[in-house]
Amino acid sequence: MASEILLITNKTDALETSLDIVAEYVTKNYGVKINTASDLGMDRNGNQIFARFSPHKMIIEICNGLDEHRKRFTIAHEIGHVILHGSFLINPVSEIDLSINNFNDYILDEDAIKRTEIQANIFAAHLLMPKRIFLIKAVETAVSLDYKPKGDYLIYIDEQPCNLNNFIILTRQLSFIFNVSRQAIEYHLKSFEGLIKDDRKYNWRYN
Ligand SMILES: [Zn+2]
Repeated sequence: MASEILLITNKTDALETSLDIVAEYVTKNYGVKINTASDLGMDRNGNQIFARFSPHKMIIEICNGLDEHRKRFTIAHEIGHVILHGSFLINPVSEIDLSINNFNDYILDEDAIKRTEIQANIFAAHLLMPKRIFLIKAVETAVSLDYKPKGDYLIYIDEQPCNLNNFIILTRQLSFIFNVSRQAIEYHLKSFEGLIKDDRKYNWRYN
């Protein structure tokens, strides 16, 4: 789905996905506008809301305090909701829902909400880091850093400083190319089988 949108909207040679062009496409074809908002308030758990898609108002609101990477991923994620779940969210109420949920705020149960969130994240990752070009750039960069394949894997990380440093450089370069966070790069690298083996004992934190 994300690749179809890219084919239609990517009119330049730039590797970074232009979210302006994608947003234009979404407004034109789905009638959904994207606005920045100063404050979207808190969610039920008291966490600040960064973005919101309101299907009935046909609007995506993005909190304007986000850094560039987070903003891009958040917009792509919300566009994922529009394209993957829009029609369902606009009209989610069936007779069964009504009898079970008794007009609760959320017609979707928690598992369903989790699934839609995961789907929107996968959509966003593929919109911002299109598979083919991402793999080409990942392999090119790994080769330029003199990565030697280890077993079945092209990229190997463990606690050794040289391997850690190489991985930092690799994720930094890819983060620069695709204009997403290094964390998003790492998740995406790991979503492809056989590309990366992470033997680090401790969770590596981004700062
Ligand atoms: Zn979401």
